[in-house]
Amino acid sequence: MTKKIFICGCEKDGKIEKESVERLIQSLEEKNIGYTYIEDLCGTVLKNPDDLESLFTAEDALVFGCQSRAMQNLIGNSGKKVQENRTEYYHIDDKDGNKLVESVRTDNPKALKIKYADEWNPWYPVIDYERCNGCRKCLNFCLFSVYSVEDDGSVVVSASANCKDMCPACARVCPQNAIIFPKHADSPIDGGEGEMLSGDNVLEQIQNDDVYSVLSARRNNFKVSLLKKEQLKMAEEERKNCSTTEEVEEKACDCNCNCKTEIEPDCACKDEDSDKNCCC
Ligand code: SF4
Ligand code: SF4
Repeated sequence: MTKKIFICGCEKDGKIEKESVERLIQSLEEKNIGYTYIEDLCGTVLKNPDDLESLFTAEDALVFGCQSRAMQNLIGNSGKKVQENRTEYYHIDDKDGNKLVESVRTDNPKALKIKYADEWNPWYPVIDYERCNGCRKCLNFCLFSVYSVEDDGSVVVSASANCKDMCPACARVCPQNAIIFPKHADSPIDGGEGEMLSGDNVLEQIQNDDVYSVLSARRNNFKVSLLKKEQLKMAEEERKNCSTTEEVEEKACDCNCNCKTEIEPDCACKDEDSDKNCCC
């Protein structure tokens, strides 16, 4: 099969192993298979998306780098049209992906390079719209106006550069695990699959009045609730660490609930324009 191969080297504050990248490149070169090496996909897709034209227009492509969900959403949210069904994303160490390479043929055996020369460390959130339910918790939590709402009500990352380096706090408050920081070390924040933090599944799990299902669902919800509290605490701590006092005060909720700058998981206060919680 004829495919274009792209490899992200994650060079800016990299999270993938150099050895893995070198191993894949070596195996391609031994087989005389052409490829395009992208120094840093996160940076290029945001700062110089036109440099990725060969990826956006590829008829059939394999992309190797970090978590496949992270790369897919990075490209998917870029606003550029890709040949969606023809582009496959693999972690650089994925055995199936590496096996696929064995059978690849390329029209052009050359090695090409897409550089990322910007000083800025590309650290920013990427929303997985397959998971996002539009609850706006990220928007209300972030002190730096990284998020905004489109006319159709969808939440978007509109000021990526405002994001504070290495702060993943908004990903922790997202109940859907829909926010990805591709360069984060841990799953699911890095785009790895992860358990949803939803605790609203008791009814779903009650089948035919099966008491064991009910008890198990309740136990599960209790665990989820503890986990949620822990995540919120971490998020608040991270947010505090990267903000000034003025920024925190400015964001204080001015409604009548008691949340103020602290997020209360059980806040019942509603946004006037929607049925969502207003500030947490
Ligand atoms: S985080 Fe993933 S997509 Fe971003 S630069 Fe690193 S490997 Fe590439
Ligand atoms: S918190 Fe998560 S689910 Fe809610 S709007 Fe933000 S990304 Fe979407």
